[in-house]
Amino acid sequence: MKQIKSLLSSKNNIVITTHVNPDGDAIGSSLALYNFLLKMNHSVNVIVPNGYPEFLSWMKYNDRVINYSENKEKANQLIHESTIIFCLDFNNLNRIHGLGLLIENADSSKILIDHHLDPSDFYDHKIHDTNASATAELVYELIQFINPDFIDRHIAECIYTGILTDTGSFKFPSTSSRVHRVVAELIDKGAEINKIHNMIYDNNSLDKLKLMGFSLSQKLEIISNGNVAYIVLSRKDLTDYNYKKGDTEGLVNYALSISRVNMATLIIETKEKIKFSFRSVGEFSVNQFARDYFNGGGHKNAAGGSLEDKLSVALDKFLDSVYKCSNELNY
Ligand code: 5GP
Ligand code: MN
Repeated sequence: MKQIKSLLSSKNNIVITTHVNPDGDAIGSSLALYNFLLKMNHSVNVIVPNGYPEFLSWMKYNDRVINYSENKEKANQLIHESTIIFCLDFNNLNRIHGLGLLIENADSSKILIDHHLDPSDFYDHKIHDTNASATAELVYELIQFINPDFIDRHIAECIYTGILTDTGSFKFPSTSSRVHRVVAELIDKGAEINKIHNMIYDNNSLDKLKLMGFSLSQKLEIISNGNVAYIVLSRKDLTDYNYKKGDTEGLVNYALSISRVNMATLIIETKEKIKFSFRSVGEFSVNQFARDYFNGGGHKNAAGGSLEDKLSVALDKFLDSVYKCSNELNY
């Protein structure tokens, strides 16, 4: 942190970037850091690889976020002109698709701030802690270290959003007493937690709820002696329910909530590939499972991956992988 603080002691051109399909922690930690670095008088831009849902589009300066998939030229220029690039909430440049190559080739100092397991070695400096509940918690620590007086209500709300969403509303094992202490500080700084909770969790569209209902009543399957639940959604299922980004958020957790289920998987057919979302409770590491069979990774109990196959082939591969792990999944 000392090195990062001294890097930031003179004015820099800074780019902040985060992972593809940004979630609450990705956007919350990026905009918290953005607002903070602006206060330090740096020139700063946030570049995301692609879009993110409405329910995350309210944090301060959300309107300034640059979407790489829609504005490649501008993103390219900003990365080229940057002196520092912050990489938030991902551990591997392949997690940010086309942006990854631009960043790899940039001469800027690269700073990783992340809490995922096993980061690959692409950065010059890092704040990396797999025990952190969220990248936003690490951004909070960095700001505390550099200038805690700069934490205002807006920064507090960005950080709170990252922690709220990445801890599953303070229920995952990563929710340490420290997390609650940090959150208490954020409330003291003015974070309106009831408003944030409403914006994130009580902001559903009718289409989203109907897709959830359909998925749970028609698509939920249980296998592996009751230890594994999964849901497969085809392109047709999604278009039938006017799918928008974020509409399957939270769905996999319903599958995981079934008693005796130790791993739940959501399998989605996108235009380009088949995307997997894995969740587990207890000892089974979906990070390892995603790495071994699905070109992915993440955390021990929450991970993702993808296959470039037809849906039916990808599903067969999934069932086969579950079969191979059936002993480990039975506890
Ligand atoms: P989700 O299922 O919500 O998309 O992702 C769960 C966790 O797994 C997140 O922490 C995310 O960063 C990670 N993750 C999701 N998809 C991938 C992937 O394709 N590759 C890797 N390495 N991590 C992923
Ligand atoms: Mn995170």
